[in-house]
Amino acid sequence: VQASERAAIQAAINTAYETYKGLEAGETAQYIPALAAADPDRFGIVAITVDGEVISRGDTEQPFAIMSAAKPFTLALLLSQQGRNVVLKRIGVEPTGQPFNALAGVERRARKPLNPMVNAGAITAVSLLEADDADARWQLIRNGYNRFAGEPLTLLAAVYRSVGASNFRNRALANLLSDQQWLGAPVDETLDVYNRQSSVAVTARQLAVMGATLANAGENPVTGEQVLARDLVDEVLAVMMMNGFYDESGRWAYNAGLPAKSGVGGGIVAVVPGKMALVGYSPRLSTAGNSVRGMKALEAISAELGLSLFRPG
Ligand code: GLN
Repeated sequence: VQASERAAIQAAINTAYETYKGLEAGETAQYIPALAAADPDRFGIVAITVDGEVISRGDTEQPFAIMSAAKPFTLALLLSQQGRNVVLKRIGVEPTGQPFNALAGVERRARKPLNPMVNAGAITAVSLLEADDADARWQLIRNGYNRFAGEPLTLLAAVYRSVGASNFRNRALANLLSDQQWLGAPVDETLDVYNRQSSVAVTARQLAVMGATLANAGENPVTGEQVLARDLVDEVLAVMMMNGFYDESGRWAYNAGLPAKSGVGGGIVAVVPGKMALVGYSPRLSTAGNSVRGMKALEAISAELGLSLFRPG
């Protein structure tokens, strides 16, 4: 990017940071004890351009649990392994308009898990990856995420234990999905690997490199590696656009106009195709499970810089 563009991005990030850093609405994820205990005041914003430039403000080197912000990357791995039709046939791509952990819509065999951005579809995606056993399934995901991030990511062991001890709704979901024969692997294996993927530690900067790889047509702008085939990037982004914030996805599309995904660890990754990724990190969540400051800050930055995909130009 040119110096003037870089300065405009930095200015928009600074303004959003200052505007929202005092906002105390929302609370940390209460249903996972290790996340409930996170420092609620952390706040960071970072942009990484498709030429690998990093523009940031605040807590962008603080590790946090990736949680559902991992879902687009597991979707990408499934698409890479099995092609675009597997998602249409075995998961579905329709927006749910439901909370992330909803059981509604999967109780009848006639309905698919609905969408890879909600838990039912994301758990199904984990199960559909072809892998010989639990360890191979986890390594596939872990190695894939490392390639998106351009560096080895670690697991937050305390979060992993906490998630495994408190995931009653996800157990219910996985059992229902298995009963209806949507899963490609046993329930326990699937849930354990899903819990691991949710407990991966990322900093805002690392998550932004992952997003920038999607923004850069599947090529990691830092390592130069083609992580996802060019012709599978738009499938991932379309699904993010439709359901990245669950029952707040419409508001986000209206205000920001970008494919993005949130996680209950407080991270949000947004993709501006051909330009950059933006990440907001702040652990206080709306009732829908989306970072309050993160969502508002990225909406403001998108508006300020005119990043919405739906702008007439
Ligand atoms: N993976 C976590 C869960 O299933 C996180 C969900 C989320 O981030 N919305 O509860």
